[in-house]
Amino acid sequence: MTRPVPAIVILGNGSLATARRIQQLYPDALIHGLAERVEGADRVYHEFGATLRELYQQGTPVIALCAAGIVIRTLAPLLLEKGAEPPVLAVAEDGSAVVPLLGGLGGVNVIAREVAAHLDVAPAITTSGELRFGTCLLNPPQGYALGDLTLGKRFVSDLLAGETVRIEGSAPWLADAQLPENEQARLTVHVGHARREPAANELLIYPRNVLVAVAGESTPVSGALHEALHQAGIAVQSVACLLAADTEMSSSSLREVALELGVPLRFVSAAGVGSELVRQAIGQAVSIVGDDAIAIAVAEQPLDPMQIGRPRGRLAVIGLGPGAAELMVPAVKAELARANDVLGYETYVRMAGPFRADQVLHCTDNREEMQRARHAFELAAQGRSVVVVSSGDPGVFAMAAAVLEALHESSDGAWHGVDLEILPGVSASLATAAQAGAPLGHDFCVLSLSDNLKPWEIIEKRLDLAAQADLALAFYNPISRSRPWQLGRALEIVGQHREPATPVVLGRDIGRPGQTLRVTTLGQLSVDQVDMRTMVLIGSSTTRVFPRPDGQLWVYTPRSYGDKLTPIQ
Ligand code: SAH
Repeated sequence: MTRPVPAIVILGNGSLATARRIQQLYPDALIHGLAERVEGADRVYHEFGATLRELYQQGTPVIALCAAGIVIRTLAPLLLEKGAEPPVLAVAEDGSAVVPLLGGLGGVNVIAREVAAHLDVAPAITTSGELRFGTCLLNPPQGYALGDLTLGKRFVSDLLAGETVRIEGSAPWLADAQLPENEQARLTVHVGHARREPAANELLIYPRNVLVAVAGESTPVSGALHEALHQAGIAVQSVACLLAADTEMSSSSLREVALELGVPLRFVSAAGVGSELVRQAIGQAVSIVGDDAIAIAVAEQPLDPMQIGRPRGRLAVIGLGPGAAELMVPAVKAELARANDVLGYETYVRMAGPFRADQVLHCTDNREEMQRARHAFELAAQGRSVVVVSSGDPGVFAMAAAVLEALHESSDGAWHGVDLEILPGVSASLATAAQAGAPLGHDFCVLSLSDNLKPWEIIEKRLDLAAQADLALAFYNPISRSRPWQLGRALEIVGQHREPATPVVLGRDIGRPGQTLRVTTLGQLSVDQVDMRTMVLIGSSTTRVFPRPDGQLWVYTPRSYGDKLTPIQ
């Protein structure tokens, strides 16, 4: 069963060697290095605090190569919030100390032991129960679930106070533990999938060996499922996975039940009653109870849901923003982290990286949009988590519309069953406008000057009307080698309705290395100042400029259209 991949975070070049050694242990883990301090990290970050908190909030295990105190202070504001806590460790830069800090129930000590063994030092384990018994009783291995944490803590403190314990059921991982076992003990570790009332003298551990299959049309609400488990005398904590026919992939009630139980929802292609779905999904011998609508199968051993059927595929069309990592929205970062496949124009795929070795990149030519969209659906329909990347916002002259068009044209049920989401990004017009001030502060019109996908007459008509309507204008795709004259013609049309003194902003490679921002006027603008990596913003009749202390200009279009406005200087 897979554990989440940790992030290794370093602050300076001095830690890189230790970071790489830890990476040998977790080959999929990326090393996050502070910009301008670390050369050769897998991923660059600019702000330590924000980065660490973001990783923590996403539930990513963190191995930080710095003082424990720095990590504690950084995460302190988040610690009072309830919720699952990922493992967080501080490791000395030179690898001489490994300190598990947070995430005791997320297995921080397990990671600490692994890392310490690899670095050939002793981990700083401070958990009393674990030190005494050699295992954290409250953190059973994958495939097992603890019944109740509060009762569990009490149980462990009773054990630490000197009581003995009996083990009922099969707990192979406790074989090596140094537990004070005694057949007559009052305290019992009970391992089993049967429903059981919690009691203070019992530590209940449930093997996740139960599969619940929900058949066809009869998608039940959570009540029916709980009732079926109750009837069968099975603890809900033992459910490892919810199974359904792939025709039910879009069912929101199934999704809600799985979420409520905290288990993965998996699918098989078979139709039919619940017991048939189970037989399709698992080869091993299982006993099946329950009716045709809800079948409950109990396996001998804990089940790995990842090996059962397949998940609902996911397709996310994401916007990277203009380029700079700080301008990428957190939902997009999280989506990139969970992706199995990444599709897009090579430049943008590279911008979205780096990627782990297990992530598959499909780089294609920028013009093959529909083909790329269909490929994305084919991959997602197999149950993979697929990301299609665009720069800026995916809905602005980019992949989102192509993906929706491909879906609209398709009658393939598997494509329509994919969990499709569009995640926005900061579009080039907005990123450029923000750097210049607020040139789009009033009504504005966004146009692509490319006549590859629409007739030039339409563009002329829109330009004419938008300029007449005194909208500020944002031109995407202003010029290219194959479209050399279009921008000149566009400016001529705008010039029929706007003064030569109208402010113009040219943003080139905004948010990328070597970005430039230039403020000029419509009269002074010449097409050779513009290329295909430039965003052109043209003011309305009210757009104004004034100097900044550094000699640059602020540009803004006032919120009000009042007649008190003075003409542009
Ligand atoms: N989806 C993108 C736009 C794609 S169209 C977005 O929302 O930003 C491509 C055009 O966008 C380019 O020709 C250029 O005009 C503009 N553009 C994209 N990224 C840019 C950047 N970083 N700086 C300036 N212009 C950019």
